[in-house]
Amino acid sequence: MADQLIECAGCAELFEFDEGEQAFFAERGYRPPRRCRECRRKLHRPGAERLTLTCMDCYAQFEHSVVEQALFAAKSYPPPKRCLPCRRAKRQMYAGLYPEP
Ligand SMILES: [Zn+2]
Ligand SMILES: [Zn+2]
Repeated sequence: MADQLIECAGCAELFEFDEGEQAFFAERGYRPPRRCRECRRKLHRPGAERLTLTCMDCYAQFEHSVVEQALFAAKSYPPPKRCLPCRRAKRQMYAGLYPEP
């Protein structure tokens, strides 16, 4: 594997995705980052910017809004893995079994 140059989705700067990082991401089955370190660091602070995430069920891209990020952070939940329609479908599926508090 060689170092890759990726255009940041946040600031459109090219950044290096080096071999070490590629191995790290591959090991965990992550996709290559879409944003440079600087932008990623900003995004780690809840409330900084909306996140675009990929749904693990339907692979649709969905937004994790600033408000949601704050909400999730307050409850120390990890970011959602599914888009809203999929989350709703899941919730309905379980609604009978596990009524919401
Ligand atoms: Zn950037
Ligand atoms: Zn989905």
